Amino acid sequence: MEKQHPSRLRFNFGFLLEATLGTSRSVELNYPTVQISSDLTLTPLTGVFVVTRTGEGIYLSGVLNSTLEINCVRCLEDGNIVVNLHIDDLFYYPPHAAPEGDYVIGEDGFIDLAPLVRELAVLEMPIQPICKPECQGLCVECGQNLNEGDCNCHEDDIDPRMAVLRQLLDL
Ligand SMILES: [Zn+2]
Ligand SMILES: [Zn+2]
Repeated sequence: MEKQHPSRLRFNFGFLLEATLGTSRSVELNYPTVQISSDLTLTPLTGVFVVTRTGEGIYLSGVLNSTLEINCVRCLEDGNIVVNLHIDDLFYYPPHAAPEGDYVIGEDGFIDLAPLVRELAVLEMPIQPICKPECQGLCVECGQNLNEGDCNCHEDDIDPRMAVLRQLLDL
């Protein structure tokens, strides 16, 4: 089994568990880079979320911003895409049992955001990532990256009837 990386996203919300229902606080994240799991590091991870004490635990709501590394399916270059991670989750506190798949607060009052952030980041990863909407991709004939300039394939590839027309136009 893989060695567990200590989470950098553990927060002590013990004070909030002791507070009256409805009490809320704003939490700001500002990581230049942070390791989420053995297979995911986010650069950066910023944003603000609100934590609110509810009858069943602590409710988190907010948006975190990050980027994901992608390999463009059109031009095959590595790139980055900006992603927004929308947090809208209740973390259950004992004795309230969490429904399967939901998150819990530790007995010590700590919440580990890493599994949630990882889940949200994975959902944001496009199945067919492209580096930018206007990516021109590669020439199917010569493999030239058309974002870096046109190749000569299509000039030589002109239809013979068009060649006649071009001669006429050249006059
Ligand atoms: Zn591309
Ligand atoms: Zn070409």
